[in-house]
Amino acid sequence: MKDKVFKNSLKSQMLKMTLVPLTLMTIVIAAVSATILQTAITKQIESELIHDADLLESVFDEFYEGEFHIEEDEDGNLELYKGEQKLNGKDTLMAKMSEKLNIDVSIFYKDTRILTTLVDEKGNSAVGTKAAAVVNNDVIKEGSSAFYDNVLVYNTKSFAYYKPIIMEGEDTVGMIAVCRSGEDVKWQVINYVFPVIMVCVVVAIFFGFIMVRFNRKLADRIFKMDRYMNRLANGEFDYEMPRELMKEDDEIKSLATDGKRMARSIKTLVEYDALTELNNRRSADKKLSDIRIKAVEMGMKYCVCIGDIDFFKKVNDTYGHEMGDVVLKSVADKLKKGMTGKGFVARWGGEEFLLIFENRELDIATRELSMILDDIRTIYVPDTDRQITMSFGLTALVPGETTDDSLNRADTNLYEAKESGRNQIISK
Ligand code: GH3
Ligand code: MG
Ligand code: MG
Repeated sequence: MKDKVFKNSLKSQMLKMTLVPLTLMTIVIAAVSATILQTAITKQIESELIHDADLLESVFDEFYEGEFHIEEDEDGNLELYKGEQKLNGKDTLMAKMSEKLNIDVSIFYKDTRILTTLVDEKGNSAVGTKAAAVVNNDVIKEGSSAFYDNVLVYNTKSFAYYKPIIMEGEDTVGMIAVCRSGEDVKWQVINYVFPVIMVCVVVAIFFGFIMVRFNRKLADRIFKMDRYMNRLANGEFDYEMPRELMKEDDEIKSLATDGKRMARSIKTLVEYDALTELNNRRSADKKLSDIRIKAVEMGMKYCVCIGDIDFFKKVNDTYGHEMGDVVLKSVADKLKKGMTGKGFVARWGGEEFLLIFENRELDIATRELSMILDDIRTIYVPDTDRQITMSFGLTALVPGETTDDSLNRADTNLYEAKESGRNQIISK
């Protein structure tokens, strides 16, 4: 029998049920941890930049004694001084610190860079360039320090911290700015996030593998249960229940146990006769065809016999149909007992029975059958002196003939037994 193919099999549903949430969960965990890390790194950069700006300021104080102040040159331009030091153009102290701390440093007069380590793509100094409007507003006008995680410096997104330079009794005259390229930080974030994502993926694959294995086992058992039920539906009542269905103490085992009981009940209904509890005609036909195949393939010898209760109509007529049933049951019990270990017996119809003597020559079968007849003769209609007898027509299978040929011969023999006095066996 071909296995069924499902459009949406349980196996694929379970696979989806497992892998989709697991994948989503992995993506969410990776995204959340990346965001948390990005925030943490931004915070860390902010405090580093604040620290760097403070350090820079104290180094300036150390090397250039005096306060920040403004002076006017011969042309009337305003210039920023730190003590005696005019702050414009290049400053080696600042350049060294920039290199060591891996940051760009700028000193602004108002919102204009007058001293900076920043250069454009062509290597030209950024002296003279302006701070962004938002910085001008927050730091110069408001006079407070500010950190930005997304300020554009030469078209590159950067992290920057601006600290106002406030002169005694004056407004903000300039700013100390330290900045780090966003590109730098991006790689730092990637360096941190990548292992986290890798761990997430490995853990997800591990759990996915376990879940898929577990689900596959479960789906496989359900699949086998379905296959068992299909066979049952096709009348294969003896199809063996797959062992793995009975392994776990779970609903599938309970289903399998019920399935087994159902198979037994249906088999009894389909193959057995309710009154005599013997195999019925349907299973007798099957037995005849099976045994003939064995005879042809393996040369097995057997004899078939049809038995009929003598004057049974009279039993019914005299003692009633129910009493007839009781007698039928007693006869069936004796036949069953007598045929145990010898072969097969079935209710062929009405008060007729089919007996198959397996692996036996005619003479042996005749001897055994006469013992069964002796036993039948011990039956009496209950509480009466009415003895029950039977007539039997027995024959051995002739090689090459059909089942019907041997059955017809058994029938002819039975007829002869009836005609020549009943209560006897005709065997030939
Ligand atoms: P013979 O010796 O020639 O076989 O005579 P007979 O009376 O046994 O044969 P006949 O074919 O005339 O009658 C068979 C009877 O068996 C008729 C029928 O009512 C009865 N019978 C068939 N099946 C059952 C059954 O299930 N229960 C009962 N009580 N009687 C049945
Ligand atoms: Mg009859
Ligand atoms: Mg009869």
